Order: sequence, then structure tokens, then C-alpha cells
Amino acid sequence: MKAAVVTKDKKVAIQDKAVRPLKANEALLKMECCGVCHTDLHVKNADFGDVTGVTLGHEGIGVVTAVGEDVTSLKVGDRASVAWFFEGCGHCEYCNSGRETFCREVKNAGYTVDGGMAEECIVVADYAVKVPDGLSSEAASSITCAGVTTYKAIKVSHIQPGQWIAIYGLGGLGNLALQYAKNVFNAKVIAIDVNDKQLELAREMGADMTLNPAKEKVEDIIQEKVGGAYAAVVTAVAKSAFNSAVAAVRAGGRIVAVALPVDTMDLNIPRLVLDGIEVVGSLVGTREDLREAFQFGAEGKVVPKVTLRPLEDINDIFDEMTAGKFTGRMVIDFKNA
Ligand SMILES: [Zn+2]
Ligand SMILES: [Zn+2]
Repeated sequence: MKAAVVTKDKKVAIQDKAVRPLKANEALLKMECCGVCHTDLHVKNADFGDVTGVTLGHEGIGVVTAVGEDVTSLKVGDRASVAWFFEGCGHCEYCNSGRETFCREVKNAGYTVDGGMAEECIVVADYAVKVPDGLSSEAASSITCAGVTTYKAIKVSHIQPGQWIAIYGLGGLGNLALQYAKNVFNAKVIAIDVNDKQLELAREMGADMTLNPAKEKVEDIIQEKVGGAYAAVVTAVAKSAFNSAVAAVRAGGRIVAVALPVDTMDLNIPRLVLDGIEVVGSLVGTREDLREAFQFGAEGKVVPKVTLRPLEDINDIFDEMTAGKFTGRMVIDFKNA
């Protein structure tokens, strides 16, 4: 079967890989599609270490064609996910306290194990989340990473209906964060981006306030107009966004870090202590988070913007991604290949 494999020269080659026999508790998926994520770019560039030979892809959706012994959670014909959180140890403190994505022995699809950017993919059945009827595989692929990541971040923000939440960065992640915040959590959304086009889209999708930090002092405006945000979710890969978030929240406000700029943020200690500010990181989501995020997608509350592309385009997609040439998600199409 054809697979998108990381090569020594930091490219991706379409290679023929054999599928090994299934072990107990595993399922074989015939892949329908797999989204291309910024994390894939880091993986193939060896930013997280050399993983030459691994099959990329952690936004995969496939149909179960076979199951190994003892599988009870999936059956042939089901659609299921291949997610970044591929498998936890199942017995540690994190795995058993609803924080399985922090398992110290976690396996990640398309990084430490072969992922879903291939015609077929083996998953651990109990860790693959079933896709509900009414949600297309393309949309589900985007929710498997970007969707669940932002859904989880809004959850972690503890935002309540009617409260103001600031979302920094309205790209692929921020756009979904906006939809979950508005349509699922019923919050009032302040969309912040240096790109006016993204802000325009945010307004169309229901943002209650849009601000451009390249043109205005967003923290001051937020404090002045609404008394500070109850929470901020930062998806913008910029230190300035993190610093702005600290200044934009009200006392007791929570800042949820999702973007990963390789940097440190400035955190004024009196501000932290005197105003009881909380800063917390949020990493993808658990299987339960993904199940919920899928369901809201199936109900039409969250609609990812996706473009289907053939597998052969993969290196072009990475070039376009590096150059910031597209909005929404590029999704490799295996169904119509
Ligand atoms: Zn991803
Ligand atoms: Zn564990």
C-alpha cells in the first residue's frame, strides 16, 4: 500500500509499505482521508528528532476492514480516527485521571508510530474514536486534531455562557476555537489577528468583537469595553500574543496556551499574584474530548474548512504551508484516489 514516508533529507516520499498482520486489540483501517497539520511539517523537518521511515499523519479517518482478537469497541464497517494521541500506557496516574494525553509513555501517530497518511493504517482499537453518522470523513479528519485541540482549550478555559473570551490567532485552529466557543459554549468572542482577512471571516462566523494588534492596542480596548476577558485562548505562534493575553484578561482570568512558539513569555509576577491570573497549557484532547468534538461536528455546530488533495501533492502542500499560502485544512483524499 502507498504511504507518505519521512525521508532522511527532510522530504516525504510516497513509498510502498507492506501491512503487517494484526495483533490482538488492533484494527486495520482502509483510509478515507488524512489532514495535513503544522505538526507534520515539524516532524518531517526533524524538529522533534529524526524519524526517517515513519509514515506521517495524525488526522486520519478510515473504515475498519479487519479486527484482531479481543476487539470489542470497533467492528468491520465502522469509521474511526487516527489521532496524535495514538495510545497511552493505560495504567499511569495521567491515563487514569482523565489526562491521558500527558501519559509519559504515550505513542503519537505519524511520529513514534506509523500514522494515517497511507492507504491503510493499523490502530489500537480502544484508542481509535468512532466517527458518528452525519459527519463527513473530511470534516472528521480536521476535528481529529485542530477541532479537538481547540474544543479542549475552550473547555480548559472554564468559560461560561455569556462571558467574554479572547481568541488570539484566527487561522486553522483559531477559526475552530471561535466556532466551539460561540456555538457550543455560548460565549462572547473577541477575535484577535494581525490579518484583516481572518478578522473578516471571524465576523462572518459570529465573532462579537474583532481587533487587529498591528493597528490598535487590543489589551486596552478589551479592558475598557468589557472590563477584561474572562479567559484567553492563544493559538497565534507569537510571543506578543501571549503577553497581550496576560494584559487582556480580568482578575481571576485564565490564559490557555495552545500555540507553540519556541520562546518564553513575560509574566509580570505582581499581576499574576495580585490578580490571581492563571496560565495553563492545553495539549490536543482525550478520546472522550474527541468523541464530544465529533458529535458537535455531526450536529453542524462546527464546520471545518477543508480542501481535498491527492497524496502526490504532499511535498507541494508543505511548501505552500511554509509560505502561508492557504487558509483552512489541506486533506489528503484516499477515497477518490
Ligand atoms: Zn495536527
Ligand atoms: Zn499512561
